[in-house]
Amino acid sequence: MNCAYFLLGVVIGFCLQNISFGAVEPRRYDGYRVVTIEPQKDSFEKIDALLASYQLDIWRRPSVVKASYDVLIAPEIWDVMTTAFDKAGAKYVITIGNVQQLIEKERFRRTPRRVRRQPRRFSLHRYHTLDEIRRWMYHFSRANRDIVKRVQVGISYQGRRIFALKIGVPSANVTKRIIWQDACIHAREWVTGATLIWLSRKLVKGYREGNSDIDRYLTEFDWYILPIWNVDGYLYTWTKDRMWRKSRSEAGSYGCYGVDLNRNFETPNRGAGTASDNPCSEVYHGPKAFSELESSSVQKFMLKKRSHLAAVMTLHSYAQYWLYPYGYTSEHSPDNDELERISSEAVKAMHKKHNAVYKHGTVSDIAYQVSGGSIDWSYRELCVKYTFGVELRDTGKHGFLLPPRYIIPTAEEYYEGLEVVVRQLLQESRENERSSFCTQRRGRA
Ligand code: ZN
Repeated sequence: MNCAYFLLGVVIGFCLQNISFGAVEPRRYDGYRVVTIEPQKDSFEKIDALLASYQLDIWRRPSVVKASYDVLIAPEIWDVMTTAFDKAGAKYVITIGNVQQLIEKERFRRTPRRVRRQPRRFSLHRYHTLDEIRRWMYHFSRANRDIVKRVQVGISYQGRRIFALKIGVPSANVTKRIIWQDACIHAREWVTGATLIWLSRKLVKGYREGNSDIDRYLTEFDWYILPIWNVDGYLYTWTKDRMWRKSRSEAGSYGCYGVDLNRNFETPNRGAGTASDNPCSEVYHGPKAFSELESSSVQKFMLKKRSHLAAVMTLHSYAQYWLYPYGYTSEHSPDNDELERISSEAVKAMHKKHNAVYKHGTVSDIAYQVSGGSIDWSYRELCVKYTFGVELRDTGKHGFLLPPRYIIPTAEEYYEGLEVVVRQLLQESRENERSSFCTQRRGRA
């Protein structure tokens, strides 16, 4: 890449990073656009280096499924960037013309009129603040205390407690198997948290109404549902910067904040793939594995439950992918065939609900190589075979700013896929739920 571009990129990238940190008012995105960039076959490296040097916010990276980037571009650098794309022979189209407008729509015109008239009512026709969600979790667990408990599963950098809902029919005699669900490890992926709130309500309502499937799901399993994992980051997306992704810890140098919590888990090949050792990067993996309180505290909680964990599902957005290990390597896990079969059934079931197309495969094959991700850790260290990561809607039209009218359809189709996993678990013995990676490792020891 042209050296002048690189230096200019470093300076502008640094300034853009820092505009958001000192701001008292929420950061505005007037005139920001999201473009989809399609590099020519030989220009991926050039574009990659260009985006990295400007520290641009990459919303979606190229994958086997879609060989293009979605990138957020500030108006100040629009001309410089588009000239550089032209020079590199990369085609680009604008997918979101004005990001600020979409943010405002999401926040202020987010509810049907009949719901807007009851502003204090918790509703899945809109997104909710951290406070509203916490209050809802408290009241929901108290109102359903025979089957729902609010459980602290960790703590954040800024000292906030991280709560999950434990939903299940209490059993005096057996230690029940656990289905784990988490969301919003990446702060800006709002639809993931909303989906798990929908799921919690669905399970409780179904049980109350005598739905025989759900009755069985709650009798056989305890569900741990963690709707907002990255609590500090999520709060920040409401108060300061809607597009925030990482934690809010002080990363030290350059005045940059936060660690990508989904790069902070212990996996081999630390730093490989889309993970960075640059504290200003959106995918900064932190000074060491589990350096962050959010990942280390929840990790400890999960380790305590290890022998009972039957499935771990972690939600992200956006791309519409149903993923399974590995991410840190392109090699396949010893359970690949089985995870492939279940995933293929899951995406078919999801498609039937609202016609949305989800692709499935390993993280590394379908998305891109990622080290330090939670699902690889769950598979290898928690030894949970049925470990899936699901990238919910959409495929780029709204990206992270998915309008609230899509919350319920997204949650409904996720539930269809989830049921495929649960039906599999109902046929399995505890022994078969361990990952073959772990049983083979034990055999070798
Ligand atoms: Zn994510």
